[in-house]
Amino acid sequence: MDHPENDELYKGLKVNKGISNAPAINPYLKKRVQRKQYTPAEFVEGILKGNITILSQAVTLVESSLYEHQQTAQEIIEKCLPHAGKSIRVGITGVPGAGKSTSIDAFGIHLLDRGHKLAVLAIDPSSERTKGSILGDKTRMEELSRRENAFIRPSPSAGSLGGVARKTRETIILCEAAGFDTVFVETVGVGQSETAVHSMVDFFLLIQLAGTGDELQGIKRGIMEMADGIVINKADGDNIEKAKLAAAQFKNALHLFPPAESGWDPRVLTYSGYYNTGIKEIWDMVEAYISFTKQNGFFDKKRNEQAKYWMYESIDESLRKSFYNNPAVIKELARMEQMVLNNEISSFMAAKRMMDIQKIV
Ligand code: GDP
Repeated sequence: MDHPENDELYKGLKVNKGISNAPAINPYLKKRVQRKQYTPAEFVEGILKGNITILSQAVTLVESSLYEHQQTAQEIIEKCLPHAGKSIRVGITGVPGAGKSTSIDAFGIHLLDRGHKLAVLAIDPSSERTKGSILGDKTRMEELSRRENAFIRPSPSAGSLGGVARKTRETIILCEAAGFDTVFVETVGVGQSETAVHSMVDFFLLIQLAGTGDELQGIKRGIMEMADGIVINKADGDNIEKAKLAAAQFKNALHLFPPAESGWDPRVLTYSGYYNTGIKEIWDMVEAYISFTKQNGFFDKKRNEQAKYWMYESIDESLRKSFYNNPAVIKELARMEQMVLNNEISSFMAAKRMMDIQKIV
């Protein structure tokens, strides 16, 4: 009798001999490869050698909001800085559907075929909402993403525009240290992100479409003023004449603006990103701008101004962060907000009290 329950006493009950349990862990499953933890010095060494895997991991640290990651990232950035700054940085903007990814693909292949190394980054503060659609979609920049000398990185998805922009700027530094001689920073032509991109690039390219004849409507004056080149995409098939007309309108409109500080007259060109026509002319324009501004000193002046701007931006950001993360501030803020809403205190006084609370701690 192997089991007492099998005694005749218990009618209708038969207990079978058990079998041993299957192992809880599948022994055939390959052990997951642990990602190697690099030291900051190893990161820097890998980046300077142009190792893309290490570069990607370093960018992930830059994008992370974890304190330790940020510390390591800052150490890497500092060591990469002396090797950065040598690329041509181009900002590319245009409304969704203007053909940014198609065009970047075409511009990129044009550059790679001439022996360049290209990094494509993006600033899209809305990507948290849209689940990182910008550059996140694998079908975008299909051709470029298969090329060895191209590094494509979607927009850092979390945080304020300022935070996202800072991360992209730091990523530029790492890419340059890794030997990328051209950096594109893409942004959607809506809202404030153009200004952020403008503050980190040498040349700002605005992609436009020909359409109903009143193309100029709906474009913010500020964006047009920032542009060093306006390019009308989809100048193909039946659209060629319309594109030419739009180009003429843009040229006229540009005459109404005061001369740019760079001394450069923004140019207007037509092209087709899809059919690959007019691409060379666009890149020739960028190169002409770079040598023009290097000659008249504006190139370095702008880079210096940008560096200064970023210093103040970083200070602003850390001040904000330390204020809003301060436990005393967190505790008091909601109550103060309610008092303002109840007209019990003025906004100004409430702000002052909050600042005082922060100082006390
Ligand atoms: P993005 O949203 O600005 O990145 O735009 P996409 O590059 O995704 O392009 C939007 C649509 O326009 C796609 O269907 C493209 O195939 C199309 N497109 C892009 N460039 C051209 C072009 O030069 N000519 C034509 N006819 N279509 C284009």
